[in-house]
Amino acid sequence: MGENNKNQPRIAIVGAGLTGLLTAHGLKKAGFDVVLFDKEAGLDARPRDWPLMLHWALPTFNSLLSESALSNFPKALCNPYLEYTPEVESMPCINGKTGEVLFKSSMPGARRITRQRLRRVMAADFDNGKDIQWSKRLETFEVDETTDAVRLNFADGTNAEVDYVLGCDGASSKVRQLLFNGDQVAQVQPSGFMFATAIVRHDDAAMVEPVVKMHPVAAVMMGTESVGGLSIMYVDDPNDLSRWTTTWMKIWRREKFPEPPATQGVEALSYIKATTKNLVEPFQSQIDLTPEDGTKASCFIDEMRTWVPVSWDTRGGRITLAGDAAHPMLVYRGQGFQHAVVDAKSYVDALKSIRDDGVRREEAVRVYTDDVVERGAKAVTQSLREASLSMDLESVGKMMMAKQGHARAA
Ligand SMILES: Cc1cc2nc3c(=O)[nH]c(=O)nc-3n(C[C@H](O)[C@H](O)[C@H](O)COP(=O)(O)OP(=O)(O)OC[C@H]3O[C@@H](n4cnc5c(N)ncnc54)[C@H](O)[C@@H]3O)c2cc1C
Repeated sequence: MGENNKNQPRIAIVGAGLTGLLTAHGLKKAGFDVVLFDKEAGLDARPRDWPLMLHWALPTFNSLLSESALSNFPKALCNPYLEYTPEVESMPCINGKTGEVLFKSSMPGARRITRQRLRRVMAADFDNGKDIQWSKRLETFEVDETTDAVRLNFADGTNAEVDYVLGCDGASSKVRQLLFNGDQVAQVQPSGFMFATAIVRHDDAAMVEPVVKMHPVAAVMMGTESVGGLSIMYVDDPNDLSRWTTTWMKIWRREKFPEPPATQGVEALSYIKATTKNLVEPFQSQIDLTPEDGTKASCFIDEMRTWVPVSWDTRGGRITLAGDAAHPMLVYRGQGFQHAVVDAKSYVDALKSIRDDGVRREEAVRVYTDDVVERGAKAVTQSLREASLSMDLESVGKMMMAKQGHARAA
């Protein structure tokens, strides 16, 4: 086990979100045994979905995926029928007051996927119940210095003994809290920026048309006290816009509006409608005309949270973090998962260097962790600055998004 079990270590990933699943792909491809534990009851336990843009990290992402997942990747796309051109692979930023295009962010090769669909594509490679174990909420871990193993203790009273643990358990990571022995320094922080998303199936081509006309993938709107986004979420029939689903998002400073009465559902949607006025078209009407019957639209409101990473004790290289568990950031410039892709590749490389090149466990995981902390801290801080610059036309031009688009910057 542990240092004595270098060739066939048992690796546990806590969290079967995008980061955990992708890292599991990379590890499996490199010949490692890996098991994922997730607190949810299954892949579809939570109904919430959202779109993500994969851009600069896409080549690395592809290199980690299995052949079958790679060939099924188009199933994860928001619009699998799209023909790509430089115009399609760019994102316009609209002046929230006048509707003029402030700038376009060019993203050659970018693909927009949905989280739920990508999870399904990636999870298909693993034996449900064995390789991915559901309803396993991690509560504590302990390192057994005699056997050199880590014991993971779950809320259902079961446990697992492994050699390595990668915490991919999201922004409020339990692994992170345990690594810091419950210290306040590990707590995720409220950002002061609220975030609402809605997924809308209008069953009406006339409501979808203005969204596609603005941009066939996604557009953002900035420079007012609300930042907005409009995009295409799902396309059932490429020739019939009435069978397309759209999504909108809104970001605002928490102190600018009253507290939302609900974080999801019709009440949350009514609150957004009541507090969103005078946005440039088509943003305003897409919000105003979102059906409130409870069946055609789902709406969620959150305060976005961040944690600027500081270094943690890896327990001799046995336990570390990746993805949102290591660097939860704001959605600006779509960097969160892309950095998780870099984490996944670096973690696989670190474990390979231990197994294949005899690098000491503690050293390999320390080098991995130092990079995650440095890169993550930079990206989290950048995302906070982007948010504060985005709500005033005077400052939008100073945003990284305006100056260097969605390119990698950390
Ligand atoms: C609207 C929106 C748009 C975004 N757009 C982009 C984009 O364009 N580009 C981009 O790169 N990023 C984007 N992001 C960020 C991206 O979605 C996240 O960085 C990424 O999904 C994080 O994945 P994760 O697996 O690290 O965490 P999560 O998705 O949070 O997964 C964590 C998993 O851990 C499990 N878990 C939690 N606690 C425990 C426990 N105690 N025990 C066991 N399991 C546990 C959870 O059930 C969950 O399955 C966006 C985010 C949002 C919300």
